[in-house]
Amino acid sequence: MTIDREARKRLFETVARRVIASADELTDLDRAIGDGDHGANMKRGFEAVLAAVDDLSARTLGESLKGVGTTLVMRVGGASGPLYGTLFMSLGKSLTDEVTREQAAEAFATAIEAVKARGKSDIGQKTMLDVLLPVARVLREGGDDITTRLKATAREAAERTIPMRAIRGRASFLGDRSIGHMDPGARSSALIVDAVVEVMEG
Ligand code: ADP
Ligand code: MG
Ligand code: MG
Repeated sequence: MTIDREARKRLFETVARRVIASADELTDLDRAIGDGDHGANMKRGFEAVLAAVDDLSARTLGESLKGVGTTLVMRVGGASGPLYGTLFMSLGKSLTDEVTREQAAEAFATAIEAVKARGKSDIGQKTMLDVLLPVARVLREGGDDITTRLKATAREAAERTIPMRAIRGRASFLGDRSIGHMDPGARSSALIVDAVVEVMEG
């Protein structure tokens, strides 16, 4: 599929608006097992993306994704800013305007490795990775009803962080008390995936 300027704009706007509209939900989740700022952090970052969306989408997909990543690093703050920034910057390094599912899967897998390295983290630690990795797996597999499966996987993977004990990030300070709550970063990743897939569906 070709991701032209118009598609890039629709993509960034859809993702940004979804995150901004979900700020209260993300904050509530972070209030339970963190410091209650994930919604505000993400909202600040994606408002900056929205403000720059015309400039960003005028660049190639690679350069525009790098721009989104840089914006998130500068504006989100917290633990999630550098991690989401790394994800988008890495995607920007490998993707071009013409993207096949295989290329998207490969770029996504590479970007997740970059997040893991940056966060010294892995699957099973109750973080955004617990959504990103299962989604990457489905993207790599391909097959029928891929968009439906990607959205379902993202939502279910975020829910599967509820019984997990946090091993990374602020929630890990709570130890067993982190059990029983959805990870805020897992939820924001699910929202982002859902919005991206929605744009893919057209
Ligand atoms: P902070 O915890 O600094 O206040 P945020 O609240 O914005 O930052 O983001 C918290 C989210 O960041 C967590 O819910 C988790 O998903 C993610 N996170 C934190 N540390 C890591 C890490 N080392 N690796 C991957 N994700 C992480
Ligand atoms: Mg927080
Ligand atoms: Mg914080």
